[in-house]
Amino acid sequence: MKIAVCPGSFDPVTLGHLDIIERAAELFDKVIVLVMSNSSKKPMFTLDERVDFIKRCVTQDNVEVDTYSGLLVDYARDHGAVAIVKGLRAVSDFDYEFQLALINKSLYPKIETLFLSAKSENMFLSSSMVKEVCSLGGDISSFVPAEIADDIYLRCKGDGLND
Ligand code: ADP
Repeated sequence: MKIAVCPGSFDPVTLGHLDIIERAAELFDKVIVLVMSNSSKKPMFTLDERVDFIKRCVTQDNVEVDTYSGLLVDYARDHGAVAIVKGLRAVSDFDYEFQLALINKSLYPKIETLFLSAKSENMFLSSSMVKEVCSLGGDISSFVPAEIADDIYLRCKGDGLND
């Protein structure tokens, strides 16, 4: 069974993320969406909320969602994953992602990093852009799955949680 990991902070999951997850699920027998806690970023949503959002949006039954705060290649090795699948947006993603891919390969030579190019309509879409637009009262309905838009609006208006 070919297993891939799709790592990210998903704070929150966007239509760009979802597109990559769905395409990865067509290519692999099983995809684990790995919600990573990143100590350098202050998230708007808790790990559990981010996991819940992804579970509500993904329809393919070969997709699982998990959380992790360690070294990605350790998780991949422990879970028998053969690939890390990442989405590539503009050229700006490339340098950093290429560096990560090389580091991961040197830490765990059996792992491959696979880049899927973002769809043109998602090319400039990021979680931080969604949070910014939403906090300023803008319409985010074309950026995030309909299932979670209201939860994001609520948090941006400030429901007191997670501040
Ligand atoms: P962000 O950069 O939005 O904070 P993450 O760190 O959660 O995103 O990213 C997880 C993965 O999803 C990365 O591989 C990233 O390149 C990819 N990704 C993020 N946004 C998009 C998008 N709009 N289209 C395709 N892939 C994306």
